[in-house]
Amino acid sequence: MHGRLASMAGVRKTEIQSHEIPEPTPGQVVLDITRANICGTDVHMWEGKHLFKNHVMGHEMVGTVRALGEGVQSDFGGRPVGVGDRVVPVYYRTCMRCARCRDGLFNICDRGSDFQGAPAKDYPHFTGGFATQYVIQPGQYFYRVPDNVSDEVAAGANCGFTQMFYALDQVGSIANRRVVVQGAGGLGIYACAIASAGGAQVVAIDSVPTRLEAIRGFGALGTVDMSVHTDVETRKARATRILGSEPDLVIDLTGVPSALAESIEHCRPGGTVLELGNVSVDPSMTTTLVPGLITRKCLTVKGLLRYQPWYLSEALQFLSRTRERFPFDGMTDREYSLDETQLALERTAARQVTRAAIVPSAPQVSSDE
Ligand SMILES: [Zn+2]
Ligand SMILES: [Zn+2]
Repeated sequence: MHGRLASMAGVRKTEIQSHEIPEPTPGQVVLDITRANICGTDVHMWEGKHLFKNHVMGHEMVGTVRALGEGVQSDFGGRPVGVGDRVVPVYYRTCMRCARCRDGLFNICDRGSDFQGAPAKDYPHFTGGFATQYVIQPGQYFYRVPDNVSDEVAAGANCGFTQMFYALDQVGSIANRRVVVQGAGGLGIYACAIASAGGAQVVAIDSVPTRLEAIRGFGALGTVDMSVHTDVETRKARATRILGSEPDLVIDLTGVPSALAESIEHCRPGGTVLELGNVSVDPSMTTTLVPGLITRKCLTVKGLLRYQPWYLSEALQFLSRTRERFPFDGMTDREYSLDETQLALERTAARQVTRAAIVPSAPQVSSDE
């Protein structure tokens, strides 16, 4: 039996391929994908700004177990798993052998993405989320999805959400902390929900009014509109006024280099700055900042990529517990069929769609209007 997948086929190009669905080898799990979100990183790859050039696109996905390889009886939390169960995989692997894995930094395993970057035409083909099937590799963490967590929410769990969950766990107790979140997109919403549920007071900064309005539904105490407060000083003054004092923690999720300089301005002496938004190492992505502020304020500036794989389990439990409290279910604004992957990426890159999802079972008709 054949399945289908969307492979990258050049800069801003995709190609639908058909391949034999592999039987799982020992330790593997084959999923039928029900839904995959388009993440900013997927767009980045599609635009040719990444090492991967001919891989199966997509990494934020949820699916049901189609077949289990020999030896697989439970997920990585020890819960029994069988055909038909809904599961979410961590999108990278931990090789357990490289220097990073030996240091316990499984989130930055040197070989973590090897299979994800493999050419789509190579066996086992189904190594990405924009596809009808997906092969979970031996040693690749995966977890069953709690029944009350929808596919829409679960599909986004294995990337940005768990990354934020992990990041906030790295700064110690968040209770009664004052937090400034720079960037009110998907990651900002996650940061706001997790921090406010942990007892923090959160202020979000962004320039898009609709985003600022949306983030209030995820526990933001107040917002700062950059189109109104156009310089760092007035933004800092407003955030401090809402919080009652300077923030203990500032999280930069913008992807804009100058935002790090602003984070350092906002943060109180002795506080922490988390950098998650700036992920590009392109030499043009630079900024000017005052290093003396880090010294004089005794700041901790911490960068974080991905998450330790077991945090996906904790994150899914959080989503299950807080589903009545936060409107995570309404975050996707458009669904596309697998055949429309190219269109979905174009629309996302042009910012005509905020958060698109590829639904492989959707009818092959254009949802373009
Ligand atoms: Zn992602
Ligand atoms: Zn490794």
